[in-house]
Amino acid sequence: MTLDRRHFIAGVAGTAALAGCATTTSNSVGGLQPAPLPAFLGRPSQTLLPKGKAPRVVVCGGGWGGLTTAANLRKLAPQAEVVLIDRNPSFFSSPLSNMWLVDMVDGELLTQDYLRVSQHLGWQFVQAEVEGIDRAQRRVTTSQGTLDYDWLVLAPGIRYQYEAWFGDDRRAADATRQRFPSAYASNSEFLTIKRALHGFKGGELVMNLPPPPQRCPPSPYERACLIAWYFKTHKIKGHITILDHKPGIAPIGGGYKAAFDELYKDFITYVPNAHVQEVDPFNQRIRTAAGDQRFDHAILMAPHKAGDLAWLAGTVSATSDGWADVDVLTMQVKGDERAFVIGDAIQAVSPLPFRYYPKSAHIANRLGRIVAYQISEKLAGRAPEKRLPDNLCYMVVNGTPGQALNVQFDYDFDAEGRVRQVQRDYNERTAHLFQEDFRWADFMFAEMFGGAAPPVLPQAAYRV
Ligand SMILES: Cc1cc2nc3c(=O)[nH]c(=O)nc-3n(C[C@H](O)[C@H](O)[C@H](O)COP(=O)(O)OP(=O)(O)OC[C@H]3O[C@@H](n4cnc5c(N)ncnc54)[C@H](O)[C@@H]3O)c2cc1C
Repeated sequence: MTLDRRHFIAGVAGTAALAGCATTTSNSVGGLQPAPLPAFLGRPSQTLLPKGKAPRVVVCGGGWGGLTTAANLRKLAPQAEVVLIDRNPSFFSSPLSNMWLVDMVDGELLTQDYLRVSQHLGWQFVQAEVEGIDRAQRRVTTSQGTLDYDWLVLAPGIRYQYEAWFGDDRRAADATRQRFPSAYASNSEFLTIKRALHGFKGGELVMNLPPPPQRCPPSPYERACLIAWYFKTHKIKGHITILDHKPGIAPIGGGYKAAFDELYKDFITYVPNAHVQEVDPFNQRIRTAAGDQRFDHAILMAPHKAGDLAWLAGTVSATSDGWADVDVLTMQVKGDERAFVIGDAIQAVSPLPFRYYPKSAHIANRLGRIVAYQISEKLAGRAPEKRLPDNLCYMVVNGTPGQALNVQFDYDFDAEGRVRQVQRDYNERTAHLFQEDFRWADFMFAEMFGGAAPPVLPQAAYRV
């Protein structure tokens, strides 16, 4: 028997209706007969955006790396269709966020509506959870449906490796994340910390730093300084203990030590070599190689590894130590010329002692540029040249007057072709570096949002 098109469509509709019935039956608890699902209610098996003739680049993750990639692809490869997927409706900037925690800047400066930016720059935005990536089929599965791609860029950031502390004890991991989050990988956690700080009546606040490599190594010290500044200016009898896995403050160790000693002597105690051995979120205790500590509140940072998407896409190999296994010059996933990983999620880039690029917004931006360039050159049938990033971080240590430190990194190749790093610490805290921090954010946001965002500087200058 053959089916003509009309019967076929009727048949498919009938099958769908039957599938709906099956769902209805399995969900009919207590006599309730659920209605059939509306057509637009996300079903991961549906095609979300049918692919046209233009080459399509799907960017998963709309943080610093993903936004930079999308913006640069529109400039360098205007013939390509660019789709960016993020689980959130808006971008929230971690850089500058420590100032937001203590009310030095408005949240508006840190937040950007993805849809507005996408319309401004001409890429497409899909707000959805990426649930699976099939690199053999070149298909991304999201909570809203599937998308096929020609080129894939993953910019998933980091995940917290709570397993290192709690094994498979999810209850302890959940209690830690909910009550004492670090706000290093999830936007909502920033709000949890801000509320806790504003409700803090005094006592012991513990912060730990995980083993390297971690996201933005100097920023926990910045956070400690600004919270101490907040305690000092609001006359809160709080004390901060920094439990650092490392043997000393780094980077910008001299500048931070001077800030701890000269500005926050009664507020901050720094403890080196404090390797975490046990965390008890229920009884509010932490045991480290440098001793036990009870706390009234804590900012607890489990070790960092590549974001979940890097694992779901099968880019973390047995030898890449929990990070995405990429070619360190092209960011291409090894063995897959159509997939790239950028930003914090990537593995060590050099056998030299520094090993990893700093896991920073600046580096994510630079790697986003490099990958947009790689894809555009390949689309044009040219062989891309080798490019290396640079890095720059401003760290605020005082609110009144506003003062900051700075660290810069440059990269080149040594005689053996290995990536080499030159680091420069600017340990003198100055008002100039404080202003430069906002100027840096302005440049970055201009590139990522293409003028859809108002400049940071005048507004920030108003607040501080
Ligand atoms: C407090 C703090 C201060 C910092 N200060 C600085 C600074 O001053 N300078 C600096 O250079 N760096 C700073 N950083 C570091 C910087 O924020 C990160 O290095 C940067 O965000 C890395 O960019 P990324 O694109 O790799 O990841 P992210 O920016 O984290 O982007 C990842 C994106 O992927 C999305 N995502 C993940 N999984 C999924 C999924 N399954 N489905 C859909 N979407 C998903 C997330 O929602 C997120 O938007 C700071 C970080 C913190 C926490």
